[in-house]
Amino acid sequence: MPSVRGRFAPSPTGLLHAGSLTTAVGSFLEARTRGGQWLVRIEDLDPPREVPGAADEILRTLERLGFEWDGDVVYQSRRHDLYRDALDTLRRAGSVYPCTCTRREIGLVAHRGIDGPVYPGTCRGGCRESRSARAWRLRVGEDPVSFDDRLQGRVSQSLENEVGDIVLRRADGFWAYQLAVVVDDAEQGVTDIVRGADLLVSTPRQIAVYRALGQAVPGYCHLPVMVNAAGEKLSKQTLAPAIDPDEAVKALCQALRRLGHTPPADPGSVAEVWAWAMEHWSISRVPAAPVTVIS
Ligand code: GLU
Ligand code: ZN
Repeated sequence: MPSVRGRFAPSPTGLLHAGSLTTAVGSFLEARTRGGQWLVRIEDLDPPREVPGAADEILRTLERLGFEWDGDVVYQSRRHDLYRDALDTLRRAGSVYPCTCTRREIGLVAHRGIDGPVYPGTCRGGCRESRSARAWRLRVGEDPVSFDDRLQGRVSQSLENEVGDIVLRRADGFWAYQLAVVVDDAEQGVTDIVRGADLLVSTPRQIAVYRALGQAVPGYCHLPVMVNAAGEKLSKQTLAPAIDPDEAVKALCQALRRLGHTPPADPGSVAEVWAWAMEHWSISRVPAAPVTVIS
C-alpha cells in the first residue's frame, strides 16, 4: 500500500486562528492515524499580502501546540526555480500562452463565473505583442473536471464555463497559487490533501494543472470552513483572533469539537489531547457543512 503523506500549507498573511488551526488538526490526524507523514509548507508567494514575522510565529504556535512535522519546513519563496521549470515544460508542450489583457478589459466582456470573471480566451490565438506585462495561462479543456472528495462528495466543474484559462504566472511577475501548490504537492509526494472547503472551488483548476504536468492527482478531503456569526469565513480580514499558545489545550479541544469530536472535559496536557485524538479520530464524524465559531 502506498504510504500516506499529508501536509499543512499556511500562507503567512496572518497568524494561526481558529480556522487555520482546525485545518492543521484535521490534516495532521488524517495523515498520522493512517501511519502517514505530515509536512508543513509556508506559502509565501505573495509578499505584499504577507505579515512580517507571521511564518515564524505560525511555526512556533504549531510547536507549542504539540504538532510534529516530517522533514524541514519548505518555503515557496525559495522554490521559484521549480515553478519556472514547470511553466517551461508547459510552454514546450504548447499548453500555456501569454495573455496581455488587463483586468478591466476582461471585465468588459466576461461573464461572472464561480470565482470571478470567466476569462473569455482573448489571447488564445496570440496576444498583442506591443504590450509587455504578460500573464501565462493554461488552456482548459471542454470536459468538466470531476473528483470525489472524501468529505464533500462528488464535485464537478466546467473550467471552460466557470473559470476560463487558468493564470499560472501573474502579469505582476508573481507565481500563481494554482501553479505553485500543485508543483509543490507533486514534488513533495503529497498523496492526501486535507484543507479547508474554501479551496474546494480551486481544486478542479489544480487537477487540470496536475494533468497538464502529467502528474498523479492526489486524494482530496475538504474540511468544513469555520465561519463567524455573520456567516463569514474566519480570516485576517474578518479579524479572527490569533490562537494563544498559552491556551494550547483549550484551542486543540475546541478544534476537535468543531471537527465533530468530543475530547475529555479536562485534559491535563497537550500530549494527553493528542493521545486521545490519535485514538478516537474518525473522518466520518467530521461535518461537511460550515461550522459557526462563537468567539
Ligand atoms: N496557502 C493556502 C491558504 O493558506 C492553502 C493552500 C492549500 O492548502 O492548498 O489558504
Ligand atoms: Zn488575454
